[in-house]
Amino acid sequence: MRSRFALACLIVLAVGIAGASAETFTYRGVQIEHELGDKEYPKAIARIVAFAAKQARTLGYDMPDEFLVHITLDASRPLRLSTTGDYQIHLELQRKAQLLKPARSGVNNVYGFCHEVGHCCQYRIIKQRDWMTMGAAEGWAHYYGSRMVDLLFAKEGEKLWPDPHDYSKRGLAQRVTKWKRSKSEVDRGAYLWHQLVEIVGEKRVADMFRAIEKAEIDAFNARKEVGAVLAEHKQGKKLVRWWKTAGEHFVEKLEKSTFETETLSPKRLARKPKTLAIDSGETKSGGSWPGGSGAAVRFRVKGKQNYLTEVHVFGQRYGSRTEDEFFIWLLDAEFKPFRRIAVPYAEFEYGKPHWETFEIKPTLVPKVFHVCVVYNAESRKGVYRFHDGEPSGDSFTGVPGESSRPYEKGDWLIRVVVDRKKK
Ligand SMILES: [Zn+2]
Repeated sequence: MRSRFALACLIVLAVGIAGASAETFTYRGVQIEHELGDKEYPKAIARIVAFAAKQARTLGYDMPDEFLVHITLDASRPLRLSTTGDYQIHLELQRKAQLLKPARSGVNNVYGFCHEVGHCCQYRIIKQRDWMTMGAAEGWAHYYGSRMVDLLFAKEGEKLWPDPHDYSKRGLAQRVTKWKRSKSEVDRGAYLWHQLVEIVGEKRVADMFRAIEKAEIDAFNARKEVGAVLAEHKQGKKLVRWWKTAGEHFVEKLEKSTFETETLSPKRLARKPKTLAIDSGETKSGGSWPGGSGAAVRFRVKGKQNYLTEVHVFGQRYGSRTEDEFFIWLLDAEFKPFRRIAVPYAEFEYGKPHWETFEIKPTLVPKVFHVCVVYNAESRKGVYRFHDGEPSGDSFTGVPGESSRPYEKGDWLIRVVVDRKKK
């Protein structure tokens, strides 16, 4: 999924830079592609990324041989800084003035690039992370970015940025105090990661990430499984104590179905796909919903050995955050999950409202099951949902594993394809 995501990002970018002439230059393992017309800012950005990556290497993280930073200018698109989590960072500016110091632009670019390298430190090692909350992922990048900014400032000072300013300001100790008191999920995450660093030492976190990745954490049992990895560590006792709080904050909560599911190679299917739909095809906008609440449809299948192979969703994507994922949940009759599939936002095409198809590794489903799509929508990312004109009683809104209630306005435009196992 990562590679497809990377490709999608590049396509978006190619559209963005059409008509403008992009320049490229490389500095210490950082290749910058930009259309800013001068080299001042690209040089500063390259120095920041090179510095944060060099530090990461000394701390034991796997860094790419080369980082690729794309900088584009497009007034019609929202300002965005993102990473594919491997070796690419994208800065999409609306205007060049957004590179000025934060007091003038409202944008903290120096911290932003350090933050993105922080994501890469974690994502390049922990590839299986569908159990992680936003507080865990963003909190880590926030911690790392803040730490780097201080080191960078100590070495390069104000003059690093062409519009010089104090990008370090308060320093880590003061930040940690602020994070501790903060109600923000990200600050709280940064605070907890900082605590971990205090326990194991800055140079041992990468190995901790490796041990977690090696354990192939199951999203349904993550708290226990990550806890077991931590318990094995030299500082096991302290870590287990830390995880009591951190696990609460870092792991998505799930109560699993007792339905024993299995997946199948597509080759073993009978190839007699059947589309199940409860909607009339009429399309009315149901808006976008924030948080972990999803739109669900209940389906029924006859006989045994039915495998879900595709989920079709009608919707319209908005927002700029391509690096995030949304989730397709498969739930039993009681709305308890037996599978969660993470889908990169990039796989939902922008444009007019349309049917989008998501292929699923053939998954055994019970006679009655729900498919629930959770976009975790917010102002910067989401998909507008659609329903038809009349409810059949099989459409719901709810939080997987927690609760659901009938949706009164119509049936959600969610369909599935099922197939049988080859005899
Ligand atoms: Zn981030």
